[in-house]
Amino acid sequence: MKLFLQVVSVAEAVETARGIAPPPRSEEVPLEDALRRVLAGDVCADVDIPGFDRSTVDGYAVAAADTVGAGEAIPAMLHYRGRVAMGGDDGAAIAPGSCMYVPTGGPLPAGADAVAMIEYCEQVGDDVLVHRAVAPGENVVHADEDFTAGEVVLAAGTTLSPRDVGVAAAAGADAVGVVAVPKVGIISTGNELVPVVSVPRTGEVRDVNSYLCGSFVTERGCHPVYYGIIRDDRDALTRTLTAALGECDLVLISGGSSKDERDNTSAAIASLGQVLVHGVAIAPGKPTIIGQAAEKPVIGLPGHPASAYVVLVAIVDHLLAAMMQTEVARRTTAARMAQNVPSQRGREDYVRVAVQDGRATPVFGKSGLLNTLVRSTGLVRVPAGREGLEVDEEVEVILW
Ligand code: AMP
Ligand code: MG
Repeated sequence: MKLFLQVVSVAEAVETARGIAPPPRSEEVPLEDALRRVLAGDVCADVDIPGFDRSTVDGYAVAAADTVGAGEAIPAMLHYRGRVAMGGDDGAAIAPGSCMYVPTGGPLPAGADAVAMIEYCEQVGDDVLVHRAVAPGENVVHADEDFTAGEVVLAAGTTLSPRDVGVAAAAGADAVGVVAVPKVGIISTGNELVPVVSVPRTGEVRDVNSYLCGSFVTERGCHPVYYGIIRDDRDALTRTLTAALGECDLVLISGGSSKDERDNTSAAIASLGQVLVHGVAIAPGKPTIIGQAAEKPVIGLPGHPASAYVVLVAIVDHLLAAMMQTEVARRTTAARMAQNVPSQRGREDYVRVAVQDGRATPVFGKSGLLNTLVRSTGLVRVPAGREGLEVDEEVEVILW
C-alpha cells in the first residue's frame, strides 16, 4: 500500500475544491417558489415604494403649519373635509385651515404634510379640534422613503428568506433569477454494500452513505441524483462516473478512496480527468480525493460514514457554497470542553461532541461506529497547530 505522500491541509483542500467549482447556471422561478433560493442578480424596485405619501396612523391629514401652538387647552380648529378613500387617487385635497380623515396606510390628500393622530383629535360638528401640534412629515412615510425606483432591494447572492420574498413582491418581481439548483451525483462503492431493504449477512453492510450524502446536499439546497451501489470494479465505477458526469454538476463517490490496490476511485477519476488532491490532513477523513473530470468536480469520500460526514462538513460544504455563489451557512454554539482531548499536531481534528448546559462532551467510539453520529450534537475543530483541547477551554461547536 502506497503512503499518502502529499497530504494537503484542510485549507488547501477547500481552496482546491472551491477553485474547481463550475460557474453557476441561473434560471427564473416564480416568486412563490423562490424561498431559500440564491438570487442570481439584483432585485430592484420598479417604482418608488410606497409610491405616494402615506399615513402611518389613523388620524387627520393636516397642514402642519395649521397646528402650530395647538395644545390641550387651546386646540387648533380645522374644517372637516371628509374621508380619504383607501386604494385610489380620488383627487382629495385640503385647503389651509381644513383637514381630512385618513386611515393607516391611506394616501395624504394634496395640501397636507402631516397626520394628527386620532387620539389627539375631536370631531365637533363640521370641525376637528386638534389638541397637539404636529411637525411637517409627522406620521407620514414619503413616496420614495422605503425604496426609490431603480434601487437595489435585494442583492445578488442573497438566500431568500420569507421576508425577502415578501419584499420582492413589493418591488414587482413576480419571478426572480436564481442560481440553478446544482445536481449532485452520488455513488456508493464497495463489494460489501447492500441496499437498505436487505438484511445484511456476515460481512455485508447496508449502504448508509447514499442517504447521508443525499440528505446533506439536499439540506444545502442541492438536488441529489442517486447512482446506487457500485462494486469494487474499476470499469464499472468509471462507467457510472461517466454517466453521472453527463447529468450532474458535481459527483460524490464514497468508499474506495484510499490508496489500496482495491481502491478504484482515484483511478476512475484519473482515467476521465485528473486527481488534484489525494489525502487531506484531517481526522477523521484522511483518505479524501479531490479531482476534476469533464470540467466538473469529483470528490472521493472515505467509506466510513462518520469520516465521510466530517469531510462533507469540512470541505464539500465550501464547494457547494461556491457552486451556489453563497456562503457556508453554519449554526454554531459556544461551549466549554468537559474534558481534555488529545490530538496530533499538523492535522486538523474534528471531534464529535454532545453539548449540554454549555459543556461539550466528546463522543468517542471505535472507528466505524455509527452511534457517534446520532449521539453527538456537532463537531469541534481542533486546529492543525494544536496538540489538543483542554478541559474548560471555550470552543465553537459546529452544530449538525
Ligand atoms: P473504504 O473507504 O471503501 O475502505 O470503506 C471504509 C469502511 O466504510 C468499510 O468498513 C466500509 O464497509 C464502510 N463503508 C463504505 N461505504 C459505505 C457505505 N456506503 N455505507 C456504509 N458503510 C460504508
Ligand atoms: Mg471499500
